[in-house]
Amino acid sequence: MAKKVLIIDDSYTQLSSLKIFFKREGFDVDTAKNGVEGFVKVYKNTPDVIISDVLMPHLGGFQLCRLLKNNKETHDIPFIMLTVLDKNLDKFWGSQSGADIFLRKDYDMATIVKAAIDISEKMPVPDSVKKELATYEIEEDEIISQINKILDDELMKTTITNKFREISDYTKDEKATAVDIFNVISAIADYDLACIYFVSPDNTAAKRLIFHEQNVSVDNETMLSVWRQLLPDAAGDFKPEKILSENEKEQLSSFDDLLSKKEMDFYYEDTLIGKLCFYSKENLRWNKMRFMNIIKSELDLFLRLKYLYTKTCFLSITDELTQLYARRHLKSVLSQEFERARRYGSFITVAMIDIDDFKMVNDKYGHLAGDYVLKEVSKIFINTLRKTDFVYRYGGEEICILMPETTVQKAFIPLERLRKTVENRNFVFEDKKMHVTVSIGAAQYTKNARNAAELLEKADAALYTAKKSGKNMVIITDGE
Ligand code: GH3
Ligand code: MG
Ligand code: MG
Repeated sequence: MAKKVLIIDDSYTQLSSLKIFFKREGFDVDTAKNGVEGFVKVYKNTPDVIISDVLMPHLGGFQLCRLLKNNKETHDIPFIMLTVLDKNLDKFWGSQSGADIFLRKDYDMATIVKAAIDISEKMPVPDSVKKELATYEIEEDEIISQINKILDDELMKTTITNKFREISDYTKDEKATAVDIFNVISAIADYDLACIYFVSPDNTAAKRLIFHEQNVSVDNETMLSVWRQLLPDAAGDFKPEKILSENEKEQLSSFDDLLSKKEMDFYYEDTLIGKLCFYSKENLRWNKMRFMNIIKSELDLFLRLKYLYTKTCFLSITDELTQLYARRHLKSVLSQEFERARRYGSFITVAMIDIDDFKMVNDKYGHLAGDYVLKEVSKIFINTLRKTDFVYRYGGEEICILMPETTVQKAFIPLERLRKTVENRNFVFEDKKMHVTVSIGAAQYTKNARNAAELLEKADAALYTAKKSGKNMVIITDGE
């Protein structure tokens, strides 16, 4: 059967000469004088390939192509755009319209016909599509309303995308970020309750699930049920956090009253970095909802960027081997804490720790064994100390601890506990059993201290005393 070509052009001369050439090649030729007429003919008389001019009255080539390519039924019909436009912006719009091939209008006819033959062989229009199209009766009015719908969707998409792009402050706290996100989402999606979950690559930060009460209000019990259901593997305590809308809310009597939900998971490589979940008292068909996909893809981008930003910050202050804070981070935190102690008359203790005879561990068991011990000792420190204490890798096998709001007498207790834990630990690396001990020196902030560096020097002096007095001990100095 002969192939059908639909040629759309408002120039009579161009139309006639193309017609002659295509007929000569054995094509069935259909023609239209503008985009609207062309659109109607696509439905009436499904072509195997469309050739269209760009500039035409009523509906131009770009818009026609966009319209056809946006449509499930006509999406697969090959579209060749003939153009005299050669500015970059024209090319950009052309490519956005989704045409399969662009040809300059001044190409010879043979090239144009060959391109049409090639593409119609490469992308044959399935019979099912032809049959389906034949069942439609398309009126010109409908075309206008379809164009309006596409424009509407596009405008909405761009607006939503822009709104998401405005939430690009990755330094904000999770709760403030959740407020921004729900501000955008609640304006477009209908739900009664939603929650968002953030995972931070900074493993000291809590994993947070934050609720948005749109039309219902929930109690702690319900929030806990959601937490368990959404995050069955999450460790740690759940702390309920919520954001309220200004809507009047109905108190939810049971979690079972929420009849439907839509859950979205977000990943960075293989790591779960966030979740968003909508709930409704009605049985909603979430997947049919307009713009769910935009919410998903925009939030995906946002969460990835936030995750990467936090990770970069975290890495820049973390020592790779031990996962302790890196020394370069110590100076700024120490000065801040020092100033705070001076202003509010509070306490601060600095402790310096050095592994005893560490050189021997390396010499006897090898450098890798030494690395292992260093990592394990660091873990003991992180796990034993309070969350408010800062632990730094100060040098090779030296660790420095900053303990805000702590007198040196009080600090002695956990420091002594640390010393004992290390002393009693069996370190095993590749079947080699090792024992190590640590010496610790600690000093506290005093009113007459001139600067933060002085505090470090005093702690170092105490450490020196501990080493000289036989190692494996804690020496404290009140610094006066
Ligand atoms: P002391 O009890 O007086 O502290 O003796 P020491 O042997 O621990 O002290 P010294 O300062 O003589 O040696 C410290 C050793 O720590 C030397 C160095 O090779 C080792 N070291 C420093 N950083 C690392 C590291 O990252 N990995 C390993 N395996 N060893 C390290
Ligand atoms: Mg040492
Ligand atoms: Mg040392």
